[in-house]
Amino acid sequence: MKCYVCAKEGRSSDAVAVCIVCGMGLCEHHAMREELDMWEGGYPFPARRVKAKIPRILCPECYHALKGG
Ligand SMILES: [Zn+2]
Ligand SMILES: [Zn+2]
Repeated sequence: MKCYVCAKEGRSSDAVAVCIVCGMGLCEHHAMREELDMWEGGYPFPARRVKAKIPRILCPECYHALKGG
């Protein structure tokens, strides 16, 4: 898989991760790894909130959408 963000910019980078929200491939540069609180609904984990924050991989678009900016 190739990085979708790089592909849009005319480059070709191998993806090292996949955005958990939209599923686009992301290179090392574009993968946003964040430790986020569990979301409402809990997908893909059980709905019960867990104490530990879980690291998640997001693309820049979903990252900014989630962070509200
Ligand atoms: Zn990229
Ligand atoms: Zn995304």
